[in-house]
Amino acid sequence: MKNHDVIVIGGGFAGMNAAITAKLNGSEVVLITKQHPLRSHSSSSHSGVNVALNDGDSVEQHIQDTVESGDGLCDSDLVEKLCREAQEEVVRLDRWGVPFSRNESGLLDFVRFGGSSIARTAFAGDAAGHFILQVLYEQIMRLEIPVLQDCLVLSLVISDDKCRGVCYYDIPTGKTVIEQGNAVILATGGANQMFGTTSSAFSATGDGMAAAYRQGVPLMDMEFVQFHPTSLPGTGLVITEMARSLGGRIVDKNNKALSAKSGLKGLELMNRNVCSQAMTQAMTTKDGGNTELFLDCSGIKKDVIKRQLYETAAMLKDLQGVKIAEGLIPITPCAHRSLGGIKVSANGATQIPGLFATGGCSCSGTHGANQLGGNALLDNLVYGRATGIASSDYAASAVAKEVSDSFAEDQRKSLRNLVSRGTSGKDSQTAIRSDLQKVMNDKVGVIRHKDALMEAQKTVESLQDRYDKVGLQKYGGTFNTELCSMVELGNLLDIAGATVASALARTESRGNHYRSDYPKRDDKQWKKHTLVYRENSSHVVK
Ligand SMILES: Cc1cc2nc3c(=O)[nH]c(=O)nc-3n(C[C@H](O)[C@H](O)[C@H](O)COP(=O)(O)OP(=O)(O)OC[C@H]3O[C@@H](n4cnc5c(N)ncnc54)[C@H](O)[C@@H]3O)c2cc1C
Repeated sequence: MKNHDVIVIGGGFAGMNAAITAKLNGSEVVLITKQHPLRSHSSSSHSGVNVALNDGDSVEQHIQDTVESGDGLCDSDLVEKLCREAQEEVVRLDRWGVPFSRNESGLLDFVRFGGSSIARTAFAGDAAGHFILQVLYEQIMRLEIPVLQDCLVLSLVISDDKCRGVCYYDIPTGKTVIEQGNAVILATGGANQMFGTTSSAFSATGDGMAAAYRQGVPLMDMEFVQFHPTSLPGTGLVITEMARSLGGRIVDKNNKALSAKSGLKGLELMNRNVCSQAMTQAMTTKDGGNTELFLDCSGIKKDVIKRQLYETAAMLKDLQGVKIAEGLIPITPCAHRSLGGIKVSANGATQIPGLFATGGCSCSGTHGANQLGGNALLDNLVYGRATGIASSDYAASAVAKEVSDSFAEDQRKSLRNLVSRGTSGKDSQTAIRSDLQKVMNDKVGVIRHKDALMEAQKTVESLQDRYDKVGLQKYGGTFNTELCSMVELGNLLDIAGATVASALARTESRGNHYRSDYPKRDDKQWKKHTLVYRENSSHVVK
């Protein structure tokens, strides 16, 4: 069997950047992904990337804003690296061809995002993610890095306590195959499909997190889920923060600004957690019912909309029949980004030699309890690169060892077992997924409480029992999407369990984790990260 130097799982920003870097560092690299790289969730990052290049800005100010946004939990060395290396990363993207928007002098233009003290986010209209993904993919092709697409990674191959490859389900052929390598990078993105309303793509099912978690790797800070303040109710479609930066106001049905009602002046450009929490409080009536909030963009000039909100305006018009500058647009917070993930060091290393992780599936502590808008993409660039180099260096000195096909045979057996359970019962994976998404929405949302979290924990456990009983129609075959969804649902259940356990454990409010029963930040007890381990079938927080 061929032994690769570096295997990268995931073709989003983080995975492609890591793959490019490892290749340029001299490694032979293969990239495996369950969908075409250009269909990765990253393409929906519409707003942009932070870099302290604007007049009056500085790296120090960027560091300060990032640390303040993280609410006392950022690792300051990691923040410093993130902010110092931003310029190099953004200039590289610019040279590779990302059409960043320019000001009249031809220099990069910037918008101000929530939590930033100055306009610092470089943008490309409102489609930066789409352009960046295209440019990274161009580099993948230029460097002739092979891409195995439509391959769903099921598990890690661990032998002699080292990661030596992955086992994946080849979706077009229905075969379960092993890919062997000296180093494996998980860049599989987040897990927010566990929520019913989320801005994350359908592919965000926590596959990489679950694979590492099952091998004893802890997940860190899983309670911190960032909720984006301005999504269209029930859809997960997000109206970019740029709309608020350009003058969009959050108002009630009488066009009264929430900032005035809540006493939070400048609310629109406060950190996302502050905004989402204020909105959720305002939307909940005394009798537990709901009242609506809206975004009023009528103050934004037409030419500005054309230049900076073109895609957003088109989305609102095409999908909702709403004209962005006319009338009030209904909005509500939705699950946007999981800050937690596979615990990694500064160079993406996990506790298993040979296993690395980067991007949305990983957590190093850089962003603490809340991430500054525009810093996620930057993280994918800076730490995707660091992980690419570290994995490549590791691979160069690792000794390859032939992996037995028994790893794949075990996977085949467990998938066939799903078929042998039969499909005659009334329950289905669709019903389980929908119940999971409902309980996560209702009980593990912006405002949390012990009672609701305990209910969620019980429900997730009972969903796991139901999952263990439902079967598949068949194993193998061409594009067996039923099997793929079943695997993804198993991963979501594991990650939901870890998230709820972590949220229950943190008995304080900090950043994106707000507990109405513990509304204050408690530095004495909680100025620390949580680590959740999978022990047998339990989620144990330490
Ligand atoms: C609506 C929206 C807008 C955003 N806008 C911004 C922004 O303007 N600025 C910013 O800084 N951040 C933004 N973000 C955050 C940003 O999108 C993420 O940080 C980033 O996309 C994460 O990239 P990633 O490479 O880690 O994951 P992804 O882009 O999710 O890529 C994951 C990859 O892994 C593959 N994969 C997953 N599971 C498997 C498996 N089992 N087997 C094989 N392959 C697998 C997928 O196919 C995919 O290719 C936004 C997020 C959302 C939801």
